[in-house]
Amino acid sequence: MGFPVRYYCPHCETIVELERDGYLADKAVTPYPFAGWEYATPSESIEDGDGVVFHCGEDGTAVDGDGCGERFYLSFVRFENGVEIDPRKPSEHVQIGNDTTPPSPRGPDGFSGGGFW
Ligand SMILES: [Zn+2]
Repeated sequence: MGFPVRYYCPHCETIVELERDGYLADKAVTPYPFAGWEYATPSESIEDGDGVVFHCGEDGTAVDGDGCGERFYLSFVRFENGVEIDPRKPSEHVQIGNDTTPPSPRGPDGFSGGGFW
């Protein structure tokens, strides 16, 4: 069960490998933790957390390189009330507005030109 997924250390670009079940979506690998995320170590049950904290070169995950000893963080995508949480965006982007812009990411606008034939 599971399959290996590789990530780069953002500090030194050592490649680490992690066995994943594959049903959680990765959000980002960062040299710092996201506020509100709970991180498990690679030896723990990582799917129970919101992400994984690597200890570069010292937790047995490095497959290419010696590691730099720094920590870095793999964060999974999190949703709250159906809205993806993104700590990197200003909070107003998370609100559901009451303006006239529909939330749909795509629509018929791209075909308004016509006349292709
Ligand atoms: Zn490193």
